[in-house]
Amino acid sequence: MALRLDGRKLADELAKRLQNEISISSAQAGRPPGLAVIRVGDDEASGVYVSNKEKACKRIGIKSFGVHYPENIPSEELIRKIQELNANENVDGILLQLPLPKDIDPGPLLMSIDPDKDADGLHTLNLGRLLKGERGPRSCTPAGVMALLVSNQIPIAGKRAVVIGRSILVGQPMALMLQSANATVTIAHSRTPNLVEVTRQADLLVVAAGQPKMIGAEHVKPGAVVIDVGIHRLLSQELGRPVGKFKLCGDVRSEELSNIASAITPVPGGVGPMTVSMLLVNTVSRWQEHCGLSFNLVDLLP
Ligand code: NDP
Repeated sequence: MALRLDGRKLADELAKRLQNEISISSAQAGRPPGLAVIRVGDDEASGVYVSNKEKACKRIGIKSFGVHYPENIPSEELIRKIQELNANENVDGILLQLPLPKDIDPGPLLMSIDPDKDADGLHTLNLGRLLKGERGPRSCTPAGVMALLVSNQIPIAGKRAVVIGRSILVGQPMALMLQSANATVTIAHSRTPNLVEVTRQADLLVVAAGQPKMIGAEHVKPGAVVIDVGIHRLLSQELGRPVGKFKLCGDVRSEELSNIASAITPVPGGVGPMTVSMLLVNTVSRWQEHCGLSFNLVDLLP
């Protein structure tokens, strides 16, 4: 039976560790860590993600500086807000919740976030730091996957890893992190021929294709570790169930893998909670640096 890689449990453990870091150092810092989440428009899923992030901040003692704008806000006004948050000494992390409404180009907005306060680790400078192995905020989802692997003592060095997906948000930084942990990494994408042939070579398969249930038994080598990054809200009927509203599923047909994979992440409860955890790790580690505190989270920034 495949080991269930429990992201909720690890996220709870990390929350306690971060809460402890904050409570022992807030007096010395003179203030708690601060995170500003900027939300634009009324995308329902984004609303849930932002609310989860703010609740997670509150639980561990990070102060929220969240703002919510209507979808017709001009980009110039968003840039002005980001600049104001860049200059605010009580804010250690800034996150622009994606996706933005279709008429707003995220590129210039993401670039206007001070790289030193880039809570999502997506600024060009921070992606460059990841590439060069320099310290900096890390992309939250792949960093969360690394933490999940390490805490479950899944060996990475010397293993053959395949990452499906080459987005800047997940696939590319995931591949870099696995490579720097000494895996031999292949990236597959929508133009990869014979995907099954590629994925069956993986000791460690990370699926971030954004395609509900695309990976099943035929893609997985016996004994492989499978990380399902995908998250989809499907109507119950689409999953073959008669009634009900939405049900979450991933990119993997995990029910087919329980006797094939050696370990697998559930959806929900696998990678999702770890993404939020790493946002907190990025924020607290920036706070430690901004306030001249000792830097104790280096093991969580791959
Ligand atoms: P993108 O749509 O930006 O990227 C998807 C990638 O998968 C692309 O590189 C694409 O290839 C590749 N791809 C798509 N279809 C196939 C296919 N049939 N075969 C092989 N490769 C394919 O998605 P993201 O990277 O942003 O997100 C991926 C998934 O992860 C989504 O389901 C998203 O919701 C989820 N996600 C989950 C998070 C969490 O916290 N759990 C956080 C972030 C994302 P190409 O480049 O050729 O188009």
